[in-house]
Amino acid sequence: MKLHLRNKCICCNGKKLLEIINLGNHSFADRFVPKNKIKDKDPEYPLILDLCNKCKFIQSRIITDPKDRYINYDYSYTSSNSKYSRNHWKNFAFYLRKKRKIKNSKIIEIGSNDGYLLKHLKKMKANVLGIDASKFMVKISKENKIDTLHAIFNFNQSKKIKKKFGYSNIIIANNVFNHSDNPKNFLKGVYHLLEKNGMFVFEQPYFARGLFAEKFDQIYHEHVSYFTAKNIHSILDVCNFKILSMEENEYHGGSMRTIAVKKNSLLSEIDISKKIQFENRNNIYKKNFYSKMFKKINKRKNTLKKKLYSLKKKNYVIAGIGAGAKANTFLTYFNLDFNIINFITDTSKYKQFKFTPLTRVIIKSDNELKKYNKIACIILSWNISSILIKKLKIINKKIYFIKI
Ligand SMILES: [Zn+2]
Repeated sequence: MKLHLRNKCICCNGKKLLEIINLGNHSFADRFVPKNKIKDKDPEYPLILDLCNKCKFIQSRIITDPKDRYINYDYSYTSSNSKYSRNHWKNFAFYLRKKRKIKNSKIIEIGSNDGYLLKHLKKMKANVLGIDASKFMVKISKENKIDTLHAIFNFNQSKKIKKKFGYSNIIIANNVFNHSDNPKNFLKGVYHLLEKNGMFVFEQPYFARGLFAEKFDQIYHEHVSYFTAKNIHSILDVCNFKILSMEENEYHGGSMRTIAVKKNSLLSEIDISKKIQFENRNNIYKKNFYSKMFKKINKRKNTLKKKLYSLKKKNYVIAGIGAGAKANTFLTYFNLDFNIINFITDTSKYKQFKFTPLTRVIIKSDNELKKYNKIACIILSWNISSILIKKLKIINKKIYFIKI
């Protein structure tokens, strides 16, 4: 199969891209496979990140088809999956209300998923429109009475949306702007739809935070751009946006929430140079940062595998906790498949009884954990491990927890 590669930077068109991370072959991290399809071969591509030598934008090298990513199989992730995520998005609605009048404003959410956030904004009397690439999510969102369009957002789509919806006061793109194959075209679409002082609000994993924690599992094919403060500033700048606000939060183990407005808006820009200096000081725009980081990760991989094999010998059942997209990057890179992990538990009814891509581990409900006396758990959703451990200890106090 011929691979399609990005041969120039998606931010500055620079031609010199330096490989910083290579995780080997991976399938799509959000691809959970139903039982009748487990014999089908999952698509797999090398998962490689490049750093632009000129502007330092961090991006994935392999171009994959968005249809393969979101449309072949029903997308299984829902915003309202856990109490934790429900709280996060509910608070996001309150946060927006502090920043801008919500009542009677027009709000578009790109990647609106099951419509959970828009439901809260609608309650605050906003006129809302959702856009999502997954037909299945559009269906759920419509059942939640949210006007939703089935589309992959880009500049062309924005022209169609403008005809139907007019100018917007707020456009939201949480954990989706980083999925765009062409973020400049995406921003051109956002620019086209926003009124003069309209706000573009987006949140996604803060890549630098993951690096400092030596985590690599936010890397997957669905993520094209890997956003640092510097990268966010660069891409907004080339697309005629300026930054109104940039704040970190703890979601997904560390996320960055940014508000951008058009450069010609009357609102004033904030200075983020301290954030960029912090990133520079920690060397994340240098290639050897990554070789050092992966030396440590690979050492951890060997220790963990030894531990798992010894538990297996002692007849332990081994379960993974949390079938998020990041779990798939972790399992595939650590080469942990159904031979070693007996099952993964997840609270989402859309994921239960499906299988992980490539590693083919079955997903079950937390109740499965009750059945065993000798059971060891790996918390794959490590960002909420303290909440999960507390919950799991109530389900089965005999669980032995393994750190990853
Ligand atoms: Zn560049």
